Order: sequence, then C-alpha cells, then structure tokens
Amino acid sequence: MSDVRLPKRLAREELTIVEMIAMYCRDHHGEELARAAEGLCPGCAGLMAYARLRLEMCRYGADKPTCAACPTHCYRPAMRDRVREVMRYSGPRMIKAHPVLAVAHLVDGRRKAPDEG
Ligand code: SF4
Ligand SMILES: [Zn+2]
Repeated sequence: MSDVRLPKRLAREELTIVEMIAMYCRDHHGEELARAAEGLCPGCAGLMAYARLRLEMCRYGADKPTCAACPTHCYRPAMRDRVREVMRYSGPRMIKAHPVLAVAHLVDGRRKAPDEG
C-alpha cells in the first residue's frame, strides 16, 4: 500500500481495483503467481502500481468519477486495455466475492465527472 492518504471513497475504490486485479491474476496467472513473492504476478503488480498512481494523481481529486465513466481517461492506451480486460473478467464476479465493494462500485459508477467549464 502507498503512503498517500486517500479520501474514504477513493480508498474503497483502490481496494476494489486491488481485489479485481488479484482475482484476475489468480485465475489467469497461477503459475507465475506461485513464483511471485507478492500477492500478484509481476505483470499484474505493474498494472496495480500504475492504477494506484493514476488514482492518487487523479485530476478530479475527491470528486473523482469512476474511471470507466471518466470523460478524460488518463490511462495510457495499453494500460487502459489491460485494466478493461481485468474489469470485464472480475466485475461480474465481484458481486459474489465482495458484494459490499461491488455494490458501492456500481453506485459510484453513476457519479458524473465535475463540470470543468
Ligand atoms: S481515468 Fe479519469 S477518473 Fe480515472 S484516474 Fe484518470 S482522470 Fe481520474
Ligand atoms: Zn497476474
């Protein structure tokens, strides 16, 4: 975990992405994961570090929408594709594995980005 203190909702968003990447990694990279010292294979650990950095640097701060609903997506295209793949796989499975996080994420998904006008 990083040292940057995020507001409660963003901390929950961080936890949600951690769980989603961990689920994806367990189900797709079992062999690499068995050799990894951390809870993620190196590729997924890199994706997590990147997602965490984007979250911490998010231009919307405490008013952040979910990244999926963001009009100014700040991820590099390759990272965006990877995180989308994780979401496609883990999103539907979160309801069963982490219902509270999943419902909170669905509610957050209705947030709009603040007007920048
Ligand atoms: S994609 Fe949008 S909401 Fe997500 S971190 Fe980047 S600017 Fe913030
Ligand atoms: Zn992995």
